[in-house]
This record gives sequence, C-alpha cells and structure tokens, in this order.
Amino acid sequence: MDKYATWLTCGGIGAGIAGIGLVSDARLGTRPAFSVTGALAGGAYLVGTFSQASHIFGSSARTRNSDGRFALTFDDGPDPRYTRRISEYLVERGHRATFFVLGRSVATHPEIAAQLVADGHEVANHGDDHRLLALSPPSAVRAQIAAAERAVQQATGSLPARLFRAPHGVRSPWLGVTLRQLGYRLCGWDGHVFDSSEPGVEAIVERATELLAPGAVVLLHDGDGSGLDAPRDQTVDALAGILDAAAERGLRSVPLSTLL
Ligand SMILES: [Zn+2]
Repeated sequence: MDKYATWLTCGGIGAGIAGIGLVSDARLGTRPAFSVTGALAGGAYLVGTFSQASHIFGSSARTRNSDGRFALTFDDGPDPRYTRRISEYLVERGHRATFFVLGRSVATHPEIAAQLVADGHEVANHGDDHRLLALSPPSAVRAQIAAAERAVQQATGSLPARLFRAPHGVRSPWLGVTLRQLGYRLCGWDGHVFDSSEPGVEAIVERATELLAPGAVVLLHDGDGSGLDAPRDQTVDALAGILDAAAERGLRSVPLSTLL
C-alpha cells in the first residue's frame, strides 16, 4: 500500500473509531460519553500510528546521555550517487554513522553496503522496499525485515545491526511486539530536519545544528525511499556545516547502537 492509500485508510480507521462513539451515544442516549471516548481513541490511534515520537504503540529505543557523542543516521540508501561520498567524508572527519538501508537497494548496490561496513559504519534495517507498515500484518513485517537481512548478509557477510527504523516512522499496534520477537529495537529520531524535502543546504545545517547534543539522533537521507531517485545533494553539501557545528560543541558521531 502506498503512502497516500495508507494515510487515507488510517484516517478512515480513526474516523471509524470516533464514529462508533457517536453511534453508541445516539443508540444508548449517553451523549457525550461515548462520543468523547471515541474521538479520543480515534485520535490516539492516529497519533500512535503517525507520530514516531509517541509512546502509544510502544516506545522507540532511547539513547543514553552520552558525553561528547551523538548519532548521525542516514535512511533510504544505499544510493550510488551519494552514499559513498557521505561515508568517505564522515571517515575523513573522524565520524561514524548508522545507515538504515533498504534491502532492495542493498541488493542492487551490494558493493556500497560492503564499503559502509569496511569504513566502520553501522548498517541497520529499514525494511526491504520502504512500504509503510501501518496496516501490514506481523507476517509482512517479518518478511520486510528478513528480505533486508538477506540482502545485507549477502553484501557484507554479516547481518545488519538489530535496529529497525520504520519507513516514515509509521507504526501499527503490533509493530513493536513483532520487532521484539525478532530481537530488534525500534529506532526513532530527534526533531525534524526534513532534508529529503530539499529545503536548502543552509536550512539543513541550521535545523540539524539545533539538534546537536550528547545522545542526539539526527535523521538525514542518503537515498530516496519513494524509488523516484530524488536528489540528496543538499544533504551531502550540508555535512561540512553540520560537522563543523558538532566540532564546536565537542561532539562526535558514533554508531547508534553504541548509544543505546
Ligand atoms: Zn525511509
């Protein structure tokens, strides 16, 4: 199911939950008790599904407040146009990052995934094809994770770190449980840089810099999960400014798992 169909369906589910409250009140003459309860439950469903920072459908793994260390994370790669450049530049400046890769992209560019590992970065799981998981049953979640694991193992000789970032941060009530059964931790991020919207290099540097603190998890993109091959040049060009700001604050990026 694509992004818009997911939003629409989940919106319908939220409205449906609220509607049950309205109908119940009308039938039972209890207005507004069930209407209010239904509206709150419908709202909670939507917040739990679409807000990666919410705790309604389980919490994301939390970082320890780690002196001098934070985590740069890159989603949706590998992309032959950007990932290597990012990896090499980070190494040159003494930083390591976590790359939440897509299985399908690793299968297409296995040599880049292998390079990430050789460069000392962490490769983690972003699923296989970037489908939103709000309405995917546990079996489909497992299939996404397993496909990405297979691709990473074939490319690098080892499994990805057992860290999972849900595409667009979208969750279902059973995503957390399914991940736990597989030994995975769900990973969110801090703030909103929105580098994938291409807001300009300055805006990316500014927004990322605001987040820089010990234990911070900064989300950037080295690829395009939509499959449309949108450019990530702004993200690449913003790295120098972000790392300069990190240096000013005495911060170094390390693999996310070392902060959990
Ligand atoms: Zn993504």
